[in-house]
Amino acid sequence: MMIIDPHVHMTSRTTDDYEAMAAAGVVAIIEPSFWLGQPRTQVGSFQDYYSSLVGWEPFRASQFGIHHYCTIGLNSKEANNEALAEQVIELLPLYVHKENVVAIGEIGYDDQTLAEDKYFRMQLELAKELNIPAQIHTPHRDKKSGTIKSMEVCLEHGLDPGMVVIDHNNEETVKDVLDRGFWAAFTIYPKTKMGNERMVEVVRNFGSDRIIVDSSADWGVSDPLAVPKTASLMLKRE
Ligand SMILES: [Zn+2]
Repeated sequence: MMIIDPHVHMTSRTTDDYEAMAAAGVVAIIEPSFWLGQPRTQVGSFQDYYSSLVGWEPFRASQFGIHHYCTIGLNSKEANNEALAEQVIELLPLYVHKENVVAIGEIGYDDQTLAEDKYFRMQLELAKELNIPAQIHTPHRDKKSGTIKSMEVCLEHGLDPGMVVIDHNNEETVKDVLDRGFWAAFTIYPKTKMGNERMVEVVRNFGSDRIIVDSSADWGVSDPLAVPKTASLMLKRE
C-alpha cells in the first residue's frame, strides 16, 4: 500500500522516523510551515526555516525514498507579533514558486485575534492569486465556531472550497466542512483529541470522499506512523 502523510513536521523528527515511515509504506509527505514551539524573534529565523523546507528537508527525505513537499505561510500564532509578521509576509513570494511547494499554509486562527484575521486574509489572497490550495489550521479552542469562521472567510475572499483543506477536524466539525464543499483533514493524535478508532467511525459515517488523514507529527507527543496505522485499522474493520 502506498501512503501519503499530507501533514507532518519532519524538521522536528529524526532519521529513525523517516526509516520507520518508509518501512510502513509512506512514499510522500507534505510538511506545512508552522511555529517551532519557541517563538521566533527575527525574520531571518523564518527565512532559514523556509529555506530548509525547500532544500535540506527534501534531501533528508530522499535518502529514505520519500518525496517531500511543503506548504509556505505565516502561522496564526506568530501572526500576533505584527512587527515581525509584516516582514515575514514580504518573504513569502521568494518561496512560493519553489519546486516542492504545493500550497499556502498552515494559515488560519489560533486565538482568533484581529492580527490573526488580518494575516489569514492576506495569505488567502496570495493563494488565490497563485491559484494554489490553501491549508487551514483550525483552532483547538472554540473549535466549531473557529472552523465555521475560517470557511466563511475563505468564501468571502472568493476561494473555491475545492482548493481549501480544513485541518484538525473532529466529529463535530466534519459535516459542516463537507457540506460546504471543502476538504476535511483529520489529525490523528496518539493520546488526546482525535484517535484512529474514532477516525474509522468518521469514515464509516461520512465516506472517504474529500477526507484526508494526517499525523501532524511534530515536537510534541505525536506519532509519525499515525496514517499507516489508521489505514491498517480501516482495512481490519472493513
Ligand atoms: Zn501542523
